[in-house]
This record gives sequence, C-alpha cells and structure tokens, in this order.
Amino acid sequence: MGLNGLYLNEIEEVVNKYGEQKYRAKQIFDFLHLQKRTDIENSNLPQKLKIELKENEKIEDVKILEEFSSKKDDTKKLLFELEDSNIVEGVLMNYKHGYSQCISTQVGCRMGCVFCASTKEGLIRNLTAAEMLMQVYEVEKKYGITVSNVILMGSGEPLDNYDEVIKFLKLLHDEKGKNMSYRNMTISTCGIADKIYSLVDENLPITLAISLHTTNNMSRDSLMPINKKYNIEKVVEACKYYSENSKNRITFEYTLISGKNDSDKNARELKEVLRGLNSHINLIPLNPIEEYSEEKPSHREVEIFKKKLEGLLLNVTIRRELGSDINAACGQLRRDYKRGGNSGVCSRNQ
Ligand code: SF4
Repeated sequence: MGLNGLYLNEIEEVVNKYGEQKYRAKQIFDFLHLQKRTDIENSNLPQKLKIELKENEKIEDVKILEEFSSKKDDTKKLLFELEDSNIVEGVLMNYKHGYSQCISTQVGCRMGCVFCASTKEGLIRNLTAAEMLMQVYEVEKKYGITVSNVILMGSGEPLDNYDEVIKFLKLLHDEKGKNMSYRNMTISTCGIADKIYSLVDENLPITLAISLHTTNNMSRDSLMPINKKYNIEKVVEACKYYSENSKNRITFEYTLISGKNDSDKNARELKEVLRGLNSHINLIPLNPIEEYSEEKPSHREVEIFKKKLEGLLLNVTIRRELGSDINAACGQLRRDYKRGGNSGVCSRNQ
C-alpha cells in the first residue's frame, strides 16, 4: 500500500520502523497531502530516511494522460493513467458553487449494467485510496484550483471497492489534509443494499445517490443485473434507513430513455417506489453508446416527464448536460482511447 494511502497514525508506524521520531510522519503527511507531491527524494526529510522510503515504501502516482475540453462550457473530461498503465476517466465541472470532480473507483466494473461502457470488459481491478486521491490532487495542481465536491460516479461501483473508498473519503476529509466536508462527497451506487447498511455504521454524512433508471423490478432486472440480488424494495428499504440515520435526502438517478421509461405508468410507479422516503430525482437524458443504442429523449420529452413527476409532488431536476459536445457517458472516453480512436474533443488538437 502506498504511503499516500495511509492515515497519519499509519505513517507514524512506518517512520518508527526506521527509528525516526513521530513528527517526521507529519512532515511526510504534509508533503503528500498539502503539497500533493510524490517525489519524496526532493523533500526536506533527512537523507537516510529519504533513501529508506524510496527503497522500501511505495508512493502511488497517477498522471493526467489526456484532457478533453468542452467548447460549450468549462467542463473537462480527463483520462488518468495509473502506474500499471491502466486508464480511468474523470470529469471536472465548474459550477457557481465551485469545482466538482467525478472520480473513478475501479478499472472497469463487474456490475454489468447494459447501458454502461465501463462494464464491457468486466472488472479489471480496484483502485486504491491513494489512486483516488491522486485524481483530485493532479487536477488541483494542473489547473491551480480547489476541488470542493467529489462525486464517485466515474468507472466502477464504489461500494464494490468499499474499504478503499471509505479510506479515500476519510483521507479527503482529514483536517490535516484537504479537509473536505463529508456533505460535499457523493457516492453513486447501483444499489448494493448490504453496503448501504455498512455505510450507516460508518456514520459519515455522505450524500448517497442511487442509479435507479426504471420503476419496476422486471425492467430493472433486464437493465441492471444487481437488481436480481437487491431488488428495488430492498434498495429503497436500505435508503430509508440511511436517510433516517444521516438526515440526508437520497438522490435517485433516472436515465430517461425515449419510449421506454417515460410513460404515465412509470411516473406513478416511481411515486409508489419513493413513498415515505426523503428523496430527489435527477433525470438524465440517455447518452447512447455503441452497445446500447436506445433513443435519446428530446428536450421536450424530458420536460414532459419532469412535469408528470412534479404533478405527483415528487422533487425532480434535470441534470444539466455539461460537456455535451465531448463523448460523455461513463467509460466511453477510455474505451475509445484504447481503440486508438477519439470521438471527444481533445484540447491538445484544438
Ligand atoms: S453504471 Fe456504474 S455500476 Fe453499472 S456497470 Fe457502469 S460503472 Fe458499473
């Protein structure tokens, strides 16, 4: 495990191993998390310790490989290269309230959602907490900005990499490091109900978003295989428990597919599914991928479905299509890059 994926007390154990005093651990922690650097050989540590760390300890690095900038807004889609040459992607969005970054938690994903490019090759590996942190740090360094929100919605199912994700969020929250509020962190999950209960036990007031996408088990079974294990009722029950304990409203992401999940019946079913739950629906117009070429709804269709839900007194917003001129959906950039193609707008080529 990399030094940059360790809590301060764990770094204290490392320096103790080399016969150094405790305050050296704080120096290392500052170097990694305040200066956001990985070149420990250039730190102010004693030469002997630098050599020992360099020879015996790992510091995980992540590089920004490509940047795709939207010409319509300030959104950037990014490809990150990991040390083993695996590639993950992320998105940086500039909102009035600050920068939000979408983070990947796994290379690939084993959840098999039919509309998602990230899962087409299955799960390749989990990311470490350090690799997740470095996605944020590299972006902050490259653009000279402060990322104020993170959303775990890039490739991978965050709750399928539970321990490293929790460590990443705790390190991000650490007041000695980046000191980000848990309220500014969102975990987006396909609905691994058992892990939602575990999250309650962590007692971290993180925002929870559920990828729901349809309103009954028969159709969700065909879109998202996880539904066969944790059906809609089980997920909603876990969400109620999470919401009651965290006092947080739960977001439900609903990808709107023209003619498939936008009927009056869907609206009524959604009302039933969310009954009694402090919830908010985020409508996302489908971004078709090669393997799932269902129809993207028109703006009018999205507005009509929104009105249907509002008529049933549900809280609903339409997700702003930031960076809509860049190949957008999760996993598409990485897949295109690996194929040697590029359907995005690469800033280097402009
Ligand atoms: S939508 Fe999320 S959970 Fe489903 S396959 Fe894609 S990355 Fe995995």
